Amino acid sequence: MEYRLLGKTGLNVSRLCFGTLTLGPLQANLPLEQGAELLQKAYSCGINFWDTAELYFNYNYLRLALKKIKDLPVITTKSYAYNREGALASLEKARREMDLDVIPVFLLHEQESALTLQGHKEALDFFLESKERGLINAVGISCHTVAAVEAAVDFGCLDVIHTIVNFKGIGIKDGTIEEMLEAITRAHKSGLGIYAMKVLGGGHLIPEAEKAINFALSLEELDSLAVGIASPAELTVNLQYFEGIKPPEHIVRELARKKRRLKVEDWCTACGSCVENCPQQALFLENEGEHLRAAVDHSRCILCGYCGAYCSEFCLKIF
Ligand code: SF4
Ligand code: SF4
Repeated sequence: MEYRLLGKTGLNVSRLCFGTLTLGPLQANLPLEQGAELLQKAYSCGINFWDTAELYFNYNYLRLALKKIKDLPVITTKSYAYNREGALASLEKARREMDLDVIPVFLLHEQESALTLQGHKEALDFFLESKERGLINAVGISCHTVAAVEAAVDFGCLDVIHTIVNFKGIGIKDGTIEEMLEAITRAHKSGLGIYAMKVLGGGHLIPEAEKAINFALSLEELDSLAVGIASPAELTVNLQYFEGIKPPEHIVRELARKKRRLKVEDWCTACGSCVENCPQQALFLENEGEHLRAAVDHSRCILCGYCGAYCSEFCLKIF
């Protein structure tokens, strides 16, 4: 496994980052022990970089996995906090629920532009102060927009950006892949650590996985690439792609066949909360017979799983 320094943070991370959203209730909902074992196995294979978020409701998997790991992996988490109280609550929740004294990387979740970053300034200041106090090693943002990458560079005091990069630009809300690459080149030159999300376009590029991963690996500006992993087979295949080894055809075919999709359960009450909160505008309300309910535009959905967190009826699941 190749390792890179994450910008100027001093954190040495594996080029393959374990995207842990897949483990918990918003996606595969693996039994706790099984998810923790997968993380431990990944760690023993050299993956020392794990990406989570408060929204993923999966700190318990990481906590259990960490019990059997001697050296701490680099863990990134994220929060939607916009003020000091919210930021304090998020930091304390992460420390308590993962049983960690120090959070290696704390990100403001889903920033869109200089305006949203300004709107979260109080929380950001709190995280930067917590870094001074030694409770966080590095601070940054995650985003789906070119504008947020540019704003993060202009802000001047951030360490890390986690943004969408894939060869088709799937999921980039305000521009093309070329524009995103321009922005991350500027960010990289400014010394920010950058790790990519949605390298496989939220599942849309699984049939072209080798090409998609090689494209992202060829970008020197990317210190690491987060890939969602939900089974030992997915772990093996991703490790092989990152080592430049062609995985066995039958396993690749099997994984491609299991193309994941977002499903809306019949008991949807059409409250509209998921529609308002989908970052890709992939949800809408439609009449199915007499019944108004949420529906998915699968061509826009990048399987981020975020909508599941906004449904109090537990209607949204990725299968
Ligand atoms: S529909 Fe849900 S899973 Fe799909 S992009 Fe929107 S929030 Fe993400
Ligand atoms: S949040 Fe849940 S109940 Fe409300 S519209 Fe979406 S799927 Fe239906």
